[in-house]
Amino acid sequence: MPEYKAPIRDIKFVMQELLDCETHYQHLGYQDASIEMIDAILAEASKFTEQVIAPLNQIGDEQGCTWKDGAVTTPDGFKDAYQQYVDGGWPTLSQSEEFGGQGLPHSLNTTIGELLSSANHSFAMYPGLSHGALATLEAHGTDEQKQTFMPNLVEGRWTGTMCLTEPHCGTDLGMLRTKAEPNDDGSYSLTGTKIFISAGEHDLSENIIHIVIARLPGAPEGSKGISLFVVPKLAINEDGSVGENNGVSCGSIEHKMGINANATCVINFDGAKGYLIGAPNRGLHCMFTFMNAARLGVANEGVAAAEASFQGALAYAKDRLQMRSLSGVKNPDGPADAIIVHPDVRRMLLTQKSIAEGGRALNGYLSQLVDICHAEKDPEVRAVAESKLALLTPIAKAFLTETGLECTSHGVQVFGGHGFIKEWGMEQLMRDTKISCLYEGTTGVQALDLLARKVLGTQGEILKPFAQDITEFCQRNATDADMAEFIKPIMAYAAQLQEITGAVGKKAMANADEIGAASVDYLMFSGYFTLAYFWGQMAEKALEKLKASDDDKDFYQAKIKTARFYFQRILPRAQGHASCLANGADSMMALTEDEFAF
Ligand SMILES: Cc1cc2nc3c(=O)[nH]c(=O)nc-3n(C[C@H](O)[C@H](O)[C@H](O)COP(=O)(O)OP(=O)(O)OC[C@H]3O[C@@H](n4cnc5c(N)ncnc54)[C@H](O)[C@@H]3O)c2cc1C
Repeated sequence: MPEYKAPIRDIKFVMQELLDCETHYQHLGYQDASIEMIDAILAEASKFTEQVIAPLNQIGDEQGCTWKDGAVTTPDGFKDAYQQYVDGGWPTLSQSEEFGGQGLPHSLNTTIGELLSSANHSFAMYPGLSHGALATLEAHGTDEQKQTFMPNLVEGRWTGTMCLTEPHCGTDLGMLRTKAEPNDDGSYSLTGTKIFISAGEHDLSENIIHIVIARLPGAPEGSKGISLFVVPKLAINEDGSVGENNGVSCGSIEHKMGINANATCVINFDGAKGYLIGAPNRGLHCMFTFMNAARLGVANEGVAAAEASFQGALAYAKDRLQMRSLSGVKNPDGPADAIIVHPDVRRMLLTQKSIAEGGRALNGYLSQLVDICHAEKDPEVRAVAESKLALLTPIAKAFLTETGLECTSHGVQVFGGHGFIKEWGMEQLMRDTKISCLYEGTTGVQALDLLARKVLGTQGEILKPFAQDITEFCQRNATDADMAEFIKPIMAYAAQLQEITGAVGKKAMANADEIGAASVDYLMFSGYFTLAYFWGQMAEKALEKLKASDDDKDFYQAKIKTARFYFQRILPRAQGHASCLANGADSMMALTEDEFAF
């Protein structure tokens, strides 16, 4: 198993230097979030994830969760590690002080989330879902619901879930069948079966709080008839203690490709008592609070996987001796050179490095937008942040998970045949991260959300605030010769994105299938371009630091070299996507269903 080391230097570069989190936090009123405080939290989080969580990753995969008579047991060590997580106050970090949280910014929690997920994807999902449940209750719950459920969720004594999927509906939630019948006391009785519920049952917490979508009697068909409920596994007594089972049971757990230590459950609701969140039939609207938070969490998983795989591959590539360098012997005292001398191995390592670091910058920026949405007083500034977040969430979710998965495949490849062997842990990273491309809306669904709903649905308006930032960045650096290699391509790709958007929009007016045919290529083009913008900004910051002093010179030079690799060897992939989508839907739709078989 590769040894995990939290990438603290790079995290500090992103948070403190690139995104100037100190000014950002002070402006938003997070007075406690000083650099000293952040450094102390990062140091503790590194220790905890490296020493407690990462060592459980492989054993978690081997043992998996077990189900017996409705109870789920997590692998050895998970219960104790979760207790340490709670005792360390980690669940409370970015939660409201009103409910027992520390009131620190969301973006700080995102960073900790990356460390947890790199160390152990399965473990990170248990507290990860609680964050989504909390965000939903905080945004849409009644005061009573908040008081009843939030303090224990914040503390980590209870955990949360998201119960959407049913056997016959995953993407198309409008088809859901779970029913909610009103009771005389204002509560509802929920009946139905949910599948694939992450952390739906386990032995880590005292109670599990399910956030469930269901249909009220007489509700309109489709997604307009979805309502949202909070349903505890164990009923909650008047005094707040947990009582009897509330008609919620775990029918089985899935045996799956990866994240074996996270229980993926069939959850049966048999007249379970639940409480309506938000207005009747507005469940999907409320659920978007959960889904948007969760999508950003999943984008973080993509970066976390790329980072973990990169660390393993880098250590191996420096150590493994095979063949001689094409350009002459580099290790004359050894029988062969380390494989890191070979250009193709470097291609893979640099792909991993540039995606992990670029993705970290993008996610860091997005998490600051979330801070702004929560804490900015000026409604106009908040509205701009919300619009940028809406645009960039599907891009980050789908692009960073697809490229994160690619990076884990490179990790296996760098190890050669040994990468295929379980002992090394590289194939586990690949198996574990595939799910990130699927849950919280598949890549295809994110791409439709981006192109159909967000971009074409607003006639391109949604692109404007982000495009404005990019224009200002390019103008600021227009005369800097050192930045020309980055600024010129960014400007060219920005213009091309506009052209592509216009062309797809035009075709879509004649044939709506053109949108679906273009969507994933459009998203990937946007992803490569967006990451180029963040790599451009990182190069700008690194150049500024190098001009100012010799401190940490190697780090900043490496940044510029990695930026150059990204622009020369990764960004051009976007052209392949542009060519594909320019060819339109015809070749995709020409085959009849019968002809697929020939
Ligand atoms: C390990 C695991 C954990 C999960 N955790 C949870 C959880 O905690 N809570 C929860 O509610 N759910 C959870 N899920 C469910 C997950 O969110 C769904 O599996 C996912 O949303 C896809 O739904 P589906 O499996 O029904 O696939 P389908 O919706 O049947 O999709 C099948 C394929 O068709 C494509 N497709 C569907 N519609 C369109 C369209 N309009 N345009 C283009 N392509 C389309 C999809 O992209 C996909 O490739 C989990 C799933 C797994 C495997």
